[in-house]
Amino acid sequence: MKDLINQLRSTLGDKAVIADTPDTTPFETDWRRLHHHKAVCVVLPETTDQVAATLRLAAAAGVKIVPQGGNTGLVAGGVPVAGAPQIIVNLRRMNKIRALDATGDTITVEAGVTLQEVQEAAVEAGRLFPVSLAAEGTAQIGGAISTNAGGIQVLAYGSMRAQVLGLEVVLADGRIWNGLRVLRKDNTGFDLKQLFIGGEGLLGIVTAAVLRLHPAATAHATAMVGVSNIYAAVGVFKTVQAKAGQSLTACEFITANAMAVGLAHAPTLRLPFTAANYVLVEITTPTPGLAVEELLASALEPLLEDGTASDAVVAQSERERADLWRIRETLSDGELAAGGSVKHDISVPIADIPAVVAAVETLIAQRFAGLRLNIFGHLGDGNLHVNVRPPAGRSLADIASQKNAITAAVENLAMTFAGSFSAEHGIGQMRIEGMAMHKSAVELDMMRALKKIFDPMGLLNPGKMLPGP
Ligand SMILES: Cc1cc2nc3c(=O)[nH]c(=O)nc-3n(C[C@H](O)[C@H](O)[C@H](O)COP(=O)(O)OP(=O)(O)OC[C@H]3O[C@@H](n4cnc5c(N)ncnc54)[C@H](O)[C@@H]3O)c2cc1C
Repeated sequence: MKDLINQLRSTLGDKAVIADTPDTTPFETDWRRLHHHKAVCVVLPETTDQVAATLRLAAAAGVKIVPQGGNTGLVAGGVPVAGAPQIIVNLRRMNKIRALDATGDTITVEAGVTLQEVQEAAVEAGRLFPVSLAAEGTAQIGGAISTNAGGIQVLAYGSMRAQVLGLEVVLADGRIWNGLRVLRKDNTGFDLKQLFIGGEGLLGIVTAAVLRLHPAATAHATAMVGVSNIYAAVGVFKTVQAKAGQSLTACEFITANAMAVGLAHAPTLRLPFTAANYVLVEITTPTPGLAVEELLASALEPLLEDGTASDAVVAQSERERADLWRIRETLSDGELAAGGSVKHDISVPIADIPAVVAAVETLIAQRFAGLRLNIFGHLGDGNLHVNVRPPAGRSLADIASQKNAITAAVENLAMTFAGSFSAEHGIGQMRIEGMAMHKSAVELDMMRALKKIFDPMGLLNPGKMLPGP
């Protein structure tokens, strides 16, 4: 391996290769701190050609590659697995905005630019880039594309897939595909970029992308609504959606348990009221003059009157709006700080959400008594994070023997409602059993065939997504 490290250093420069120091540890450890395996080295290329050179050198040495962005993924997809030697290729130095076209509403960025940096560049140009999630300051465009990230505005703008117009990708053999098209229409054969979106680094390394920009928001109205149960939460969603139509850009659900864990980690944040469950809704409009606050208030009024909502507060300033969103954003950090959980990321048809929540509560109470449920998620997308915490005073390690049974039970439940066992986080290392259990043989065969075509030597991101052999 020394030879390979020396070749990488002489080709990419000393600054681009980290090896034999404790500095590699954060790259080798996933965000949830559940997985850690040593890498041969960490490579930080600065150009597409350097990514290509790295892949050629690794292929010649028979060493495998783990593509990595901000390493905020929640299924350990961007860190090494046990077994064959692996190099981590982290894209953070590929952080240039190559072009912004305000007429065509596109931005062309390198893979290492963060989601937040793209949002900021869009605002500066009087536009909007809508993919937003709590890790946006660290998560990179390449990672967000490779996981087809969702976030809080999917119900209005779609997930990452809906934003991508073109891609530049380095293939496993080091060839570069320049598919950086800015076109809205292009029916010229298979749409190959779709294979890399949500491809989790198994088919190639995304090095740059052309992303769609949207008209800037001119006004927001944001409210926190208290509800006694999940039926009422769905009622809030449907009522506000009926009033606001496509202007409803976010609808998040948070149980009191999840809220308490999040807020324990952020003691300066204050809830405007307490409730059994919370719904955070936001209406956004690009149309000047539309009175969004009145629109939201008029949607909420009847809900308060008929008791669907127990309480509601509409943010009166940008500051109050930001505070409400900070409460939402602290949930995952709070859970990690409290010792972590057995996480799930299911989606089901929206009409079935109440039945699914009721079934999950019964399941945990009856089969896993004493464990604590933390449910929150993107209600407007039918996407629930069903997280199971150990009993008070116990650690995640104490319930390790139950982990697989809990996950199988929660995922099975989602599947019986014609749902998905991984809505937005992807598969990585942590949902592979779900792939084996829930995907048909035909679907797995097609995926394995694609992997063989793009990566016949099996160099890219081993041990992720596809159940072996
Ligand atoms: C607090 C918190 C909140 C989150 N909220 C959400 C949410 O609301 N919605 C959501 O969808 N996700 C959410 N996530 C998950 C995560 O942030 C997203 O999946 C994010 O898009 C991952 O980006 P990353 O750059 O960190 O990727 P990484 O974690 O580094 O990698 C993710 C996967 O993509 C591959 N990859 C990375 N870069 C490339 C590349 N350039 N080319 C090819 N493959 C690559 C990796 O190999 C890995 O398989 C959250 C995470 C945290 C920590």
